[in-house]
Amino acid sequence: MIYDLIIVGGGPAGAAAAVYSGRKKLKTLFISESFGGQSLVSDNIENWIGVKKMTGFEFAKMLEEHIKSQEDVEIKMPEKVISVKEMKDGFSAQGGPAVGWEVTTDKGGIYQAKALIIVSGGRRRRLNVDGEDKFEGKGVSYCSTCDAPIFKDKIVAVIGGGNAGLEAVIDLIPYAAKIYLINHSLELKGDPLTLEEFGKSDKIVIINNAETQEIMGDKFVSGLKYLDKQDNNVKELSLEGIFVEIGSVPNSEFVKGFVEMNEVGEIIVDHKTGATSVSGIFAAGDVTDEIYKQNNISAGDGVVAALSAYNYLLKIKKQSSAVKN
Ligand SMILES: Cc1cc2nc3c(=O)[nH]c(=O)nc-3n(C[C@H](O)[C@H](O)[C@H](O)COP(=O)(O)OP(=O)(O)OC[C@H]3O[C@@H](n4cnc5c(N)ncnc54)[C@H](O)[C@@H]3O)c2cc1C
Repeated sequence: MIYDLIIVGGGPAGAAAAVYSGRKKLKTLFISESFGGQSLVSDNIENWIGVKKMTGFEFAKMLEEHIKSQEDVEIKMPEKVISVKEMKDGFSAQGGPAVGWEVTTDKGGIYQAKALIIVSGGRRRRLNVDGEDKFEGKGVSYCSTCDAPIFKDKIVAVIGGGNAGLEAVIDLIPYAAKIYLINHSLELKGDPLTLEEFGKSDKIVIINNAETQEIMGDKFVSGLKYLDKQDNNVKELSLEGIFVEIGSVPNSEFVKGFVEMNEVGEIIVDHKTGATSVSGIFAAGDVTDEIYKQNNISAGDGVVAALSAYNYLLKIKKQSSAVKN
């Protein structure tokens, strides 16, 4: 059986793509390792438009139910896509591209479709220090846009001296009592305008040339140990929140070398259509070079990709019936 469309990934981008393709009556296969995506672990989602507050689990459940309500969408979950290749006997519209993709999964599944949407998102780059896993969601956060208000009047640290780190500090200024910015190099790398904002707040303490070594606490975070590379001493800070902002990693390994990516492995898309460098393959959300990595944006991008895939399928259908006549 050849599906019209395979969607890889079950976060907000994948859910939006599935709902739209289902409503367009496309024969769709939805493959994902999970429903809900990255913010599944979040205690509080307060910026999904239309819902004032919910947990990541509630969000995931909502997306799952919506996907499952689409009768033309078949679901394979949990299942992980490990490779994508051109279909050997892909039917080719005259003058057009070879049409058809074959997807292989970790469960040994081999599935074929005329179009693909890659919405496999990303994962946060981790510090890989003691205490990080234990205190994730208990003081350790990877999303200042989402979690800054939870740290009202608390002492926090932001780890990372690039733009993401600086932006996290700016997100925290209205809430936190004091913000340590832990930067591993000698000076901050953020853009000058953002740095200018820093001068206006007396809440920020910048610690340059510092390497985080351990996150401490009992039930919740209570402190952080870092190596001061200037004097080679290990020092401690007492605090209640830690924002890790050292970048994210796109889940794009399974299409590496197949579709065009930027230097950090994000899939390059045309943001008007979600089209990748390969005709018939679309991508959306955090796995792409989209600047803003947010749930609402991923969902919107997922809709764009689904509608573009639909139009693409209409086009190749017309081309192949023209060839037959
Ligand atoms: C802790 C945390 C809290 C956050 N809170 C908020 C918030 O409150 N508000 C907000 O707007 N944004 C928040 N974000 C950001 C938001 O989660 C992301 O922008 C959003 O999830 C991206 O959606 P996506 O669908 O593009 O990808 P993802 O959510 O990353 O979903 C990708 C999906 O693809 C699946 N997948 C990955 N690889 C494969 C594969 N090879 N085969 C099959 N399936 C695969 C994954 O299991 C997952 O289901 C938060 C992020 C984090 C880390």
